[in-house]
Amino acid sequence: MAGTRTFTMIKPDAVEKGHIGGILNMITEGGFRIVAMKLTQLTVADAQQFYAIHKERPFFGELVEFMTRGPIVAAILEKDNAVDDFRTLIGATNPAEAAEGTIRKKYATSIGENAVHGSDSDENAAIEGAFHFAGREQF
Ligand code: UDP
Repeated sequence: MAGTRTFTMIKPDAVEKGHIGGILNMITEGGFRIVAMKLTQLTVADAQQFYAIHKERPFFGELVEFMTRGPIVAAILEKDNAVDDFRTLIGATNPAEAAEGTIRKKYATSIGENAVHGSDSDENAAIEGAFHFAGREQF
């Protein structure tokens, strides 16, 4: 059975441009309940660990630099079929390929600076959520 929680980050590009409110509106209107949320900033070590799967890719250095250059909003979201439904709401990694009505279509500017993260599995959702939030911060 698909899990009911996913983890998201509103990335530094979208925070810098003042899109926190707009993105949170799309998330809640999409039927997701906010379980936990904070404004925080990733360290270089955090970002290298978070994106370790991409460490051999040519864009890895740029990705770590981007993700650490300013604050992010980290949040845990709840909904039936959370991981897949949230990936649908955010749209394709490359905003040029993102469907109409998706968060990345509206707010992302490039394949790197693409406004939001969404976990790609229930297992990663649990790992990523637990990295940012203690149990008592989850409602
Ligand atoms: N990314 C990038 N260049 C690429 C592909 C990905 O800078 O060619 C960045 C982008 O910020 C993306 C993140 O690396 O969101 C993780 O990539 P992934 O393929 O896991 O995409 P996602 O799951 O975020 O859609």
